[in-house]
Amino acid sequence: MHKKKSTSQQLRIQHNACAGCQKELDILTGVVSGLAQHFRLRGPQWCEYTGQLFCCVCHLNELAVLPALVLQHWDFAPQRVCQLAKAFLDSIYNQPMLCVSAVNPYLYSKVPILAHLRESRKRLSKIFSCIQCPSRTRMQSMVASRLYLLEDNDFFALRDLVDLSKGAFAVLPGFVQTLFERFSLHIKRECSICLALGEPCGANDFCNDPNDIIYPFQEDNVKRCSLCKLPFHKRCFMKIKSCPVCTRDYIQHKSQKAKAFSHGGLESIPECSNNATQ
Ligand SMILES: [Zn+2]
Ligand SMILES: [Zn+2]
Ligand SMILES: [Zn+2]
Ligand SMILES: [Zn+2]
Repeated sequence: MHKKKSTSQQLRIQHNACAGCQKELDILTGVVSGLAQHFRLRGPQWCEYTGQLFCCVCHLNELAVLPALVLQHWDFAPQRVCQLAKAFLDSIYNQPMLCVSAVNPYLYSKVPILAHLRESRKRLSKIFSCIQCPSRTRMQSMVASRLYLLEDNDFFALRDLVDLSKGAFAVLPGFVQTLFERFSLHIKRECSICLALGEPCGANDFCNDPNDIIYPFQEDNVKRCSLCKLPFHKRCFMKIKSCPVCTRDYIQHKSQKAKAFSHGGLESIPECSNNATQ
């Protein structure tokens, strides 16, 4: 944001010319603003977007939400801007040009609904990347012009942030959730190509729910072996405590080494590591 100078200081910087059309500004009404207001004269007008003074043709006292105020302070109060700034801000309103993490990463901790949406978008982009069948284009068309919602980044359009500022009345979180459920339904129930992405729980006979197939987009309640990436329901893994595939391989490896050792080999046996991650 611009540090606001006094009107007379700014007039000097602009050589008394309108920052838009370069026409000479009425200095008297600019400096003695109280007097000008009394006689209803409109002198030079501040544009809160550019931080410059404009004539009453280039500045019609239009209001706009400023991206900088939103990203820095989550402040949506409309500000007076010149016509050029108004036209520019209107033109980018639907464009995903605002990168929250680059400008103000602390905003996520200040605004829970924003952090929640970032997480939902991550999940959405992950599930969408799983859809590689011919239905992908049809699924894509569900977001229409908002394809960026399917990408794993935190670029937002001003429109999105204005929507989120409505809190419980915001529509974007529900929209993203609906898309997620729609994609999930496609993968798990509707499409034989996408269905094949699923894997059974690695706990085999010890699995609590063998019919609950695990998909690559699932993270909640799923644990993957850090060595072989075999997926487990978290509850099942807690029961068996280690990955059966890696444990079996390790035991085989150990017995082979033991045999080699008894035949005169001197190689050491690798240590068993904790082989599962969250
Ligand atoms: Zn002008
Ligand atoms: Zn499919
Ligand atoms: Zn299981
Ligand atoms: Zn494993």
